Amino acid sequence: QHQDLIDRDRKVTFHASSHLRDFAHGDAPGRVITGGQGITIRDKDGREFIDGFAGLYCVNIGYGRTEVAEAIYQQALELSYYHTYVGHSNEPQIALSEKIIELAGPGMSKVYYGLGGSDANETQLKLVRYYNNVLGRPQKKKVISRMRGYHGSGLATGSLTGLKAFHDQFDLPFEGILHTEAPFYYHRAAEQQGMSEREFSKHCAAKLEEMILAEGPETVAAFIGEPVLGTGGIVPPPEGYWEAIQAVLAKYDVLLIADEVVCGFGRIGADFGSHHYGIKPDLITVAKGLTSAYQPLSGVIVGDRVWKVLEQGTSEYGPIGHGWTYSGHALGCAAALANLAIIEREKLTENAAETGAYLQQAMADAFGDHPIVGDVRGVGMLAALEFSANPGKREHFDPALKVGPRIAAAALDENLIARAMPQGDILGFAPPLIATPAQVDEIVARARRAVDKVTDALVR
Ligand code: PLP
Repeated sequence: QHQDLIDRDRKVTFHASSHLRDFAHGDAPGRVITGGQGITIRDKDGREFIDGFAGLYCVNIGYGRTEVAEAIYQQALELSYYHTYVGHSNEPQIALSEKIIELAGPGMSKVYYGLGGSDANETQLKLVRYYNNVLGRPQKKKVISRMRGYHGSGLATGSLTGLKAFHDQFDLPFEGILHTEAPFYYHRAAEQQGMSEREFSKHCAAKLEEMILAEGPETVAAFIGEPVLGTGGIVPPPEGYWEAIQAVLAKYDVLLIADEVVCGFGRIGADFGSHHYGIKPDLITVAKGLTSAYQPLSGVIVGDRVWKVLEQGTSEYGPIGHGWTYSGHALGCAAALANLAIIEREKLTENAAETGAYLQQAMADAFGDHPIVGDVRGVGMLAALEFSANPGKREHFDPALKVGPRIAAAALDENLIARAMPQGDILGFAPPLIATPAQVDEIVARARRAVDKVTDALVR
């Protein structure tokens, strides 16, 4: 019955990040997920997996929360939807916006909603242009992102994303979107070999400044970055990175967009990654953990500095030419409110800090000296293993060996979902924030068996 469902699925759909030919020939791998509880999900055969990646790092409160399902149901009985154009609102949108502004802290003014991280970053790009247009400097519209940054997969947001696979097939990035060096200390070039983390951070900031000067500061509008590089490899910033970057941005009047789609709402043990790293963004992007994926919902949080300019736009331009049918969707906002209430009541952000520290230690203990692990890194409930042919020398495996995907497959054999990150041999972990130390032990034990199994196959 499971196979029958998979066959039907292949006939009529195709899936993200897949070889499309597999769907033409009908032999794409498949799995139909039918349920989940806590940190585990279940497929049509009843096989259970520990979800060590919380879906796509989004199911922060875990699966099967009836409280959220009921909140959605109750809201649907009252009002599922009415648009939010021209001042129309709904009660969950109002309450949720108040909550988000409270969590984001001083300096943040307004929220505008979308459905996913990509569309929220699309909104950011438009706000940044609008802002500079109102200020009478329309030429200030370039945006600098980072290599290995991930900000979505549309045309503009795929341009912001700094991963090869998102550019090559689509003739991207768009003109005016640039990528500066990733703060990836482990991958630093040979000539930066002797640098401390702080020195490397200064080097990254100097590279950014060089780019701004080469482009002309009068043309550079914004810089976008995730507090912790996510899909690009789960890379916490080197010491002093954000401080150094923010000094450069301030010098050239460049806005800072913090893409908190992964870090927001507890993932690294703070309400926002920005709070953890002392980042003072002008604009914040949120999605994923906002609803723990019980409904699709994203948001753009606009800081005072930007808002004060945006609000002057009307006299010149009339109403802003931007809007989504589903912005502020009542069911999404109701789900978010229920989700944030659980995060607060169960102290899941605190748990992400405490059990997250336990996770980091357990990973370091299990893999610190492993013969094919070059780097063990992470923060809070985000962790990564980077595999290396020669850990002492930081040598990468031949990509043809597909070490990362093989280890992810071996983990699946252990009924553990961990994610082979798209660039490099990196295995990512982002368990739901409800995970206990005992569950962390189980995740690490299964991961260890998977890594050992592939190590044996590589040595043989
Ligand atoms: N920004 C970040 C940091 C992300 O990790 C993602 C998705 O993984 C996005 C934006 C895009 O979000 P979505 O896939 O919901 O469009």
